[in-house]
Amino acid sequence: MTHPHPGIAPATPARAIELQSTAGAPVRADAFDLPRPVLVPEDEPVRVSVDNNRCHIYGICQQEAPEVFRISEGGSLHYTRAVPAEFAAQARQAVRVCPMQAIEIHGGRPPGTTRGPGGPGDRRPVRPLRSGTAARTGRRRIVVAGAGLAGLSAATRLRERGFDGELVLVGEEPHRPYSRPPLSKQYLTGGLTAEQLAFRADRSLDAHWLLDTRILGLDLARSALELRGGERLPFDGLVVATGVDAKRLPEAPVFSDRVRTVRTLHDAAAVQRALHTARARHVVVLGGGFVGCELACTARQAGMDVTLVVHSAPLLRRVLGSRVGGVVAALQRRAGVDVRLATQVTDWQDHGDLLRLRLDDGTLLDCDVVVLGLGGEPRTEWLRGSGLSLGDGVLCGPTCHAVDAWGRLVPHVVAAGDVAAWPNPRFDDRPRRVEHLIHAVEMGQHAADSLLRGPARAARFAPVPRFWSEQHGTRIQGVGIPSLGTDVEIVEGSLRAERFVARYSRATPFGPQIVGAVAFDMPLELLEYRDEIGRSRPRPRTAGRRRRR
Ligand SMILES: Cc1cc2nc3c(=O)[nH]c(=O)nc-3n(C[C@H](O)[C@H](O)[C@H](O)COP(=O)(O)OP(=O)(O)OC[C@H]3O[C@@H](n4cnc5c(N)ncnc54)[C@H](O)[C@@H]3O)c2cc1C
Ligand code: SF4
Repeated sequence: MTHPHPGIAPATPARAIELQSTAGAPVRADAFDLPRPVLVPEDEPVRVSVDNNRCHIYGICQQEAPEVFRISEGGSLHYTRAVPAEFAAQARQAVRVCPMQAIEIHGGRPPGTTRGPGGPGDRRPVRPLRSGTAARTGRRRIVVAGAGLAGLSAATRLRERGFDGELVLVGEEPHRPYSRPPLSKQYLTGGLTAEQLAFRADRSLDAHWLLDTRILGLDLARSALELRGGERLPFDGLVVATGVDAKRLPEAPVFSDRVRTVRTLHDAAAVQRALHTARARHVVVLGGGFVGCELACTARQAGMDVTLVVHSAPLLRRVLGSRVGGVVAALQRRAGVDVRLATQVTDWQDHGDLLRLRLDDGTLLDCDVVVLGLGGEPRTEWLRGSGLSLGDGVLCGPTCHAVDAWGRLVPHVVAAGDVAAWPNPRFDDRPRRVEHLIHAVEMGQHAADSLLRGPARAARFAPVPRFWSEQHGTRIQGVGIPSLGTDVEIVEGSLRAERFVARYSRATPFGPQIVGAVAFDMPLELLEYRDEIGRSRPRPRTAGRRRRR
């Protein structure tokens, strides 16, 4: 039997999955021995170079390719320039996840490309895109909704796996995908320009880019996107990767130039102008997640008075727990940030030349700029009424296939990145979203594999989530989902020295399960905890005392 869309897995009848019945039940996780994502192997050596002016020693490259990159005890980056073929795929992955886009790869042959007249990376050019062309000609078309990192990662992987039909990325921003983490850090201080944020991975991607184009709806029955302007874009396979939008406060003055969020390059450029051109002296940051804390650092480093107003207490309690969060609060206070915890704004007054905020304890704060760092809201408005199951994001099964309103997997639709909620079998079967850069890369890759293989043959996506942050010069790196932990132990270093590794675990019917680890200025030490995540037996303690969070 021939399938109408060769290359994409046959549309097997929708299959019911068991998400609701066992939600939250822990899974015996020792079975998940996938410390690294599956990469497409390469058969040629590559050369690597790192731009020292950009490199910020986050050490993420070392996590992805320890055979190639190494952070020394002294904190400098060492790397192998000539990388043998067996480690080329890891080195390429490090290029994708480096937030500063500091690494360049030369030579070699990226998977999915052929040696043509233009050398490595040369492919047969895609035909011009017209709506319905694929359907009329029988050529297959995969559409990626959302031209961000997860979308780029999925598209790149589709080509690596040999998908040779039409590939279309649709995004409402005018830019090709770029690295967002520096938006709250180096971009605001002028350390990186907008051009330097662009991902290097898409340079040789053979695809159509429909930028500046908002998607308004999904017609699931007819497999087509509805675009702004009334155009329809049919597809054979769809990757949903529309990310999140920054949360706003309905009570904040919507049209004031002095109230800003930071999600896009456009937002960050406006904050940069507000901070520097307007010569802001007092900045209030609302929200105490990582992005809010980083915005406070950046404004403080630029010499401004900063007040960090956070609804909960202690700082970062939900993400890191009380004791570790307390260390971040100490770092902020020592750097001169006025940290106000367990409080919120009850009144906003825009006086033109300043904003006046009233806190619930009666305090008045006069400031020049307010930056909201309140977290993200999944971009699913365009999917309402489409028949896909939406909750906190797009609900997916363990293979990243989308779930429809009847609880069935949709074989030709996958989701990836910040917008996708899926049950990570490493932890349990409760669908969750993860908003980290490395995750967007890995889930994009996995979703692409799943789309090509189909639900019946696709593997479950069981990554170890990884993240990092920097607070006033202290580098924080995390693995797993520390917020799931009910117990935390300091396994290396000490809280007092503000240099330590904290390990998070929780009780399950199979015994204690390690769910996360966080390192403050200990990137090397963290490596050995990464492979423990999801395991049910903690290794013997080496140092520190165990306490309730
Ligand atoms: C300021 C900031 C700092 C961060 N710092 C860190 C950090 O230090 N470490 C870390 O791990 N992660 C960090 N992150 C998170 C990381 O950047 C994200 O996890 C990652 O960008 C997610 O990629 P994505 O492709 O899922 O979503 P996005 O990058 O948001 O891409 C989604 C794209 O889809 C587009 N889109 C949405 N709806 C539509 C529509 N209807 N039609 C067309 N296009 C649409 C959006 O405009 C966007 O371009 C940070 C994020 C921000 C904003
Ligand atoms: S991941 Fe970090 S250490 Fe590695 S090259 Fe990029 S900025 Fe430098």
